[in-house]
Amino acid sequence: MKEALAALVRWSGLGWGVRFLCARRRATIVVYHDPDPAVLREHLAYYARHYSFTTLDTVADAMESGRWGDLPPYPLVITIDDGHAGNTRLEPLFREFGVRPTIYLCSRIVGTARPFWWKTPAADRIGVEELKRQPDTERRRRLAEAGDDPDRDGAARHAMTWSEVAALGETVDYGAHTRTHPILIQCDDLRAAEEIGLSRIELEKATGRPCRHFAYPNGDYGEREVELLRAAGYRTARTIEPGWNGGRADPLRLKAFPVSDDVSVSWLTVQLTGLPAWLRGLKESLRGRRAASAGYPAPSAGTAIPAAPLRQ
Ligand SMILES: [Zn+2]
Repeated sequence: MKEALAALVRWSGLGWGVRFLCARRRATIVVYHDPDPAVLREHLAYYARHYSFTTLDTVADAMESGRWGDLPPYPLVITIDDGHAGNTRLEPLFREFGVRPTIYLCSRIVGTARPFWWKTPAADRIGVEELKRQPDTERRRRLAEAGDDPDRDGAARHAMTWSEVAALGETVDYGAHTRTHPILIQCDDLRAAEEIGLSRIELEKATGRPCRHFAYPNGDYGEREVELLRAAGYRTARTIEPGWNGGRADPLRLKAFPVSDDVSVSWLTVQLTGLPAWLRGLKESLRGRRAASAGYPAPSAGTAIPAAPLRQ
């Protein structure tokens, strides 16, 4: 199926057509997590041929000034979520390709051995998707009870250290990804406000640089989160809803294409058409309709795209 789609996109000119129609005058944002340098190298070489690298601040400047035409054609922003320790290996690539990505950090996980909770054995046993559906306090309690307390140091660190953050800071910008990576819509009001507002303050203090961009953990957010971000003074917030961003896009609901960390360039070109996400959505809505007609509840919006490796 994957190969057939990749061949279709390649031979039909669909990739080129979508890029010309959708990405020439609108910003494409791609999302990575912990890519292998060899894989990312191929992706960056592909982007360098077909897009113009730009930064999130440049896109935000163009949105705020209304001078969208200042952006180069086919503007593309690389974003990387969570601040995985492996990201430090990417620095030579950023220099080589002259790209300045934004890495979104969790201010209470960087510089500690606290785990990314979804990568723990406890989360594996309980089920990551199951945990995402729990109220935040319940998710923490269950993880702690199963032996991987998300608020305590684990056996091995998952995130970068602060000195690695400082060293990599020459080639990347940093945004906030909350303090502890909860599912925001499962948090009570106080917790959501702290996770959004304090992560910015803590990151600015630790890095000595402004932190004005945010990415929603797991792509989950609601009106409350958008209002909290506005109040906290963020310029942009990135979702994982596939699509492109024009000059009039809502800066606190930026669309982006999640890219699997290990995909081939031919599948990358398919992901950038938005086709897989569209097909997934279609499949889920059909399944929802079937479930509804069989008397079962339809899956909620939060479970609509069960692409775990693309999220978090
Ligand atoms: Zn994340």
